[in-house]
Amino acid sequence: MLDTNKIRKDFPILEREFKGKRLVYLDNAATTQKPRVVIDAISNYYERLNANIHRGVYTLAEEATEAFESTRERVAKFINAKDSAEIVFTKGTTDALNMVAYAWGEEHISEGDEIVISLLEHHSNLVPWQQLCKRKGAILRYIPINEDHTLNISDLENIITEKTRLVSITMMSNAMGTIVPVEKILQAAKRVGATTVVDGAQSVPHMKVDVQKLDCDFLAFSSHKMLGPTGVGVLYGKREVLEKMQPFFYGGDMIKDVSMTDTDWNDIPWKFEAGTDNIADVVAFKYAIDYLDEIGMDNIIDHDRVLLKHARERMSQIKGIMMVGPKDVNCCGGVLSFNLGGVHPHDIGSILNEEGVAIRAGHHCAQPLMEKLGCAGTARMSFYIYNTLEEVDEAVDALQKVKEVMKVN
Ligand code: PMP
Repeated sequence: MLDTNKIRKDFPILEREFKGKRLVYLDNAATTQKPRVVIDAISNYYERLNANIHRGVYTLAEEATEAFESTRERVAKFINAKDSAEIVFTKGTTDALNMVAYAWGEEHISEGDEIVISLLEHHSNLVPWQQLCKRKGAILRYIPINEDHTLNISDLENIITEKTRLVSITMMSNAMGTIVPVEKILQAAKRVGATTVVDGAQSVPHMKVDVQKLDCDFLAFSSHKMLGPTGVGVLYGKREVLEKMQPFFYGGDMIKDVSMTDTDWNDIPWKFEAGTDNIADVVAFKYAIDYLDEIGMDNIIDHDRVLLKHARERMSQIKGIMMVGPKDVNCCGGVLSFNLGGVHPHDIGSILNEEGVAIRAGHHCAQPLMEKLGCAGTARMSFYIYNTLEEVDEAVDALQKVKEVMKVN
C-alpha cells in the first residue's frame, strides 16, 4: 500500500471535520482533492506570473507562456504522446469529447453511418454521439455488458462493421469501476478503418495510459480527477488526425491570418484553443502530474485495488448489500457501487454524511447502464491515493447505521 500517512499531510482539506468527525472522502471518481503543491501553484501563478500568453513581447508574458506550454510537454510525456503538439487543452473530458463530435463528427458522419460506444459510457461519452447521430441520420450502437458486469465483447464483429465510422469507448466505468478490454475494441475498430476515441476520465488518473501503445486517434481526460484544478482537460489527438480536423471554436489565438473574407488556421494544437485559455489552472496541472508520477501509476492502481478488495470483503458480510461491478478486483479500478435493501441511494449518502463519510449516490451520469441494472441509481464509494483501510472500515461501519435508521433487516 502507499504511504498514506505521508500523502495525507499534503492534502489540507483532509483535515476538515464535518459534524465533529474527520472527513472521509470517498467520492474520488467525481473529483479528487488537491495537494498543497497544486494549490500553491495556482496562487504562485497569480502572484508572480500572470499575463496573457502567446501574444506578449515582454518578459512576464514570455514566462507565463513558458509555464503554460511546459504543462503541455509534461502531459505529452505522461501519456507517451510522440509530440506535445498532439495535446489540446480543453475545459475537461466532456468538452474534449464534444469537440471531437463537432469538429470531427460534422465532417465525417453521414446518413446511415454507425457510431459504436458501450453500455458503460458516462453521458459525456454518449450524448454527444447520440445527438450527432440524430443530426446526421446515423445509427448509435452499443457494446453490451455481461451478467458479471464486464463488457461483452463476444459479438464485436457484428457490432463493429464496415458501416462503423467511429468507436468511442471508456477505459474504466465511473459507475461500476469495470476496466474495459479497450485494446481489443480498438483493434476491431481499426480493422474496419473506424476512427477511435478513448474516454480516459477514470483510467488516466489511476493507471499508466500510453497513447502510442493504445494507438487510439483521440484520448480525453480531466485534470480535476487526477489532483489537478477544475476547468482543465486534455484532448490528445494523433498529429495527422488533428492536422486534418477543422477547428470548431473560432477567435483569438487559433488563427494565423485573417482577412475580411477568409482565415488561415494556426498550427496544431493552437488552432483548437480559441480565446484566452485557463492559464493558471493549466500551469498548476503540471504539479499534479509530477505528484502522481512521483508515486508511480502502477502503485496507484494497486493501492485502489487493496482498498476495493477490503471494502468488498467487509461489505459482503452485511446482509442486504448488493454490490455491482465485476467481483474480480483485477477487472476493476477503485470504484464500488452498491445498493442496500430497498434503501434509496440518496438516503444511504445522507446517513453516511452524518458520520463524516462523503460518497456519491445516484445514476452517476450513466442512466442507460442503470436501466440495464434495473435500478434508478446506486451508492458509490471511490478511492484514491490518500484513502486508507481505516477509512473503508469507517464507511462500512456507517452502513450498519443506515440499516438501523432505515430499519433494514
Ligand atoms: N467520462 C467518465 C468516465 C467520467 O467519469 C466523467 C466524469 N465523471 C466524464 C467522462 C466527464 O468528465 P468531466 O465532468 O470532467 O468533463
